[in-house]
Amino acid sequence: MAKKNFPLTAEKLEEIIKKYPTPFHIYDERAIRLNIRRLFKAFDWAPGFREYYAVKAAPNPRLLQILRQEGAGADCSSLPELILADKAGITGESIMLTSNDTPADEFQKAIELGAIINLDDISHIEYLEKNAGLPKVISFRYNPGPVIEGNDIIGKPEEAKYGLTKEQLFAAYKIMKEKGLKRFGLHTMVISNELHDGAFIATAEMMFKLAVELKEKLGIAMEFINLGGGIGIPYRPEEKEVNIEAVSQGIKKAYEKILIPAGLVQTQIAFESGRAITGPYGYLVATVLHEKKTYKDYIGLDASMANLMRPGMYGAYHHMTVVGKENEPCTCTYDVTGSLCENCDKFAINRKLPPISIGDKVIIYDTGAHGHSMGFNYNGKLRSAELLIKTDGTVELIRRAETIDDYFATLTGFSGSIMDK
Ligand SMILES: *Cc1c(COP(=O)(O)O)cnc(C)c1O
Repeated sequence: MAKKNFPLTAEKLEEIIKKYPTPFHIYDERAIRLNIRRLFKAFDWAPGFREYYAVKAAPNPRLLQILRQEGAGADCSSLPELILADKAGITGESIMLTSNDTPADEFQKAIELGAIINLDDISHIEYLEKNAGLPKVISFRYNPGPVIEGNDIIGKPEEAKYGLTKEQLFAAYKIMKEKGLKRFGLHTMVISNELHDGAFIATAEMMFKLAVELKEKLGIAMEFINLGGGIGIPYRPEEKEVNIEAVSQGIKKAYEKILIPAGLVQTQIAFESGRAITGPYGYLVATVLHEKKTYKDYIGLDASMANLMRPGMYGAYHHMTVVGKENEPCTCTYDVTGSLCENCDKFAINRKLPPISIGDKVIIYDTGAHGHSMGFNYNGKLRSAELLIKTDGTVELIRRAETIDDYFATLTGFSGSIMDK
């Protein structure tokens, strides 16, 4: 069983907490850099391989800057995400707009930035042209429908709101070709948090065959094939991580078997991975406020579902350790909760942990993607700070914690500071 390790000593963590009170998310820059380098190395055989980091996973410009330095682009799904990417120095075609139900201002910004636009529907062609004009490069998101098995989070493709049917896809490229576009890409995302290597290879094969068919029927040579995100991470210590080198080799075989004989020798492979890039290298640090014993034994933290909603929303497992008690036997069974007036606000249910005392610090693992970013203000809860452990070991505040003033900032109809009576 793989052991999960927190990158800081208890002493160092105490020092940080003195300056930045819990709860907070803290990210490990060195580990993130090594991780994305591994992805690029695994695909070094693939011409022009791209990773467009899914900004929604951790929309912090400091993290985006780090990823940009390592060669990543950005996958955006909103106007603020487009602006974040641009501000982090990720520009032009290093930005991919993969959104759905897209408003005009997003298309306009994407055109202004020279981003690659990945359309979610055939009807968006007209909407895009009318509201923003046509881009240089266009891509469409394919929804394969009932031919492929989805998984729990993304569900069955035919039930998913995303993408075009195969028929629509052919019609859409034809329209774009007739409108004079010359550069095309193809996109899909059919899996989420997937740990089986074979699923990515199967998706690549499906997409490669589709690209060949598009070339034969419409004479379009895909410039890139974007396989989306969805690379899983082992949230549970007993799970095995995706073998990205094996995935790459499987995709290489398919590339050589399907694309090259069809003359698609320069087609780029792209991913929009978020979770697998930063997920394992973020940690939510919280303090134990209360222990409550009723029909069950509850440990109440100063963090809540507002800081990490995956357990409450999906029943997702996040590993947890108690600082200084990492090697103690897990002899207690706890529900570990936050303070929202929602019974699903639990980080763990029936979790075996060592005996916990008030004031203990708890580390919740794998919060580097879809963690802080999913935060919300329900019950008047404020979003936490984000910290970065830099490669030199020093700690930088990369987002301050929200204050009550932030909470009140959008409220109109009363005057004066909240501190006034
Ligand atoms: C969420 C999402 C991603 C990133 O997914 P991960 O699970 O973080 O890899 C990529 N592309 C699209 C279109 C998405 O919606």
